[in-house]
Amino acid sequence: SLSQVDITDDEVFRGVQGRSILDRMRLDGKVAYVTGGGQGIGRAFAHALGEAGAKVAVVDIDQTKAEAVVKELFLKGIHGIPIKADISKADDVQRMVDTIVSKWGTIHIACNNAGINRNSASEDTSLEEWDQTFNVNLRGTFMCCQAAGRVMLKQGYGKIINTASMASLIVPHPQKQLSYNTSKAGVVKMTQTLGTEWIDRGVRVNCISPGIVDTPLIHSEDLRPLVQRWLSDIPAGRLAQVTDLQAAVVYLASDVSDYMTGHNLVIEGGQSLW
Ligand code: NAD
Repeated sequence: SLSQVDITDDEVFRGVQGRSILDRMRLDGKVAYVTGGGQGIGRAFAHALGEAGAKVAVVDIDQTKAEAVVKELFLKGIHGIPIKADISKADDVQRMVDTIVSKWGTIHIACNNAGINRNSASEDTSLEEWDQTFNVNLRGTFMCCQAAGRVMLKQGYGKIINTASMASLIVPHPQKQLSYNTSKAGVVKMTQTLGTEWIDRGVRVNCISPGIVDTPLIHSEDLRPLVQRWLSDIPAGRLAQVTDLQAAVVYLASDVSDYMTGHNLVIEGGQSLW
């Protein structure tokens, strides 16, 4: 029984390697990047990883936005670099990885977050729209996983965190987002496959599926009228704020989550269960 053992010799009592749980979630000395880091969820991820101790490359198709976020990080004493890259272009993705490795030596944490959203009735969805969505959300995320994954496999360590969506699980009503929903379901399956394929080589791959998050993405012309409607579908009674997602990315980026791979962490105020 517990009374007969020396509890001070127990890992739960004294902490793994003598470190408390919050200490074990720190990311000091780690090198991270976040795609789509220039605004919205990616910006919040960049801040969270930086606050936890990581150096952060802020990657965005929009150079000005990436630079602005790096300035914010600098004001908080966090090391950051801006990288302009379009994740749907193979050359850009490789250049992103090469830039980070030449600046900081390696990559430990890859947040493949950039994604786009198109809204049209399925019978009207053009192949152009389909291809655009898939080129960024699925093909782009794959290229990032592969390029960062190669660096990680070589060093036998890495944490990949993809941004999927609640739309990978349910069909949010009354959105018309066949290409988006389908591409995000692909991100989940890619995460499962890579997570299990690379687990014995030190690389963990998970994804986060936010519900409806209050970012510029949902304030686009075509989605804005739907916001009121969505609110009644969310048991939590409010949209997610980007700050609701920040701890999840630190958890998945840190070593405390080493036993978790291939999974989809759903943060949606209960919406997918209603
Ligand atoms: P956002 O539109 O506010 O920001 C996306 C950022 O990515 C922008 O800074 C944009 O410039 C950048 N970007 C777009 N295309 C890019 C490309 N090809 N290469 C590099 N950067 C690119 O979006 P957000 O709401 O912060 O969403 C981030 C991710 O979260 C996306 O994958 C999105 O699908 C997903 N998501 C969003 C919500 C939501 O409700 N906002 C819900 C679930 C999932």
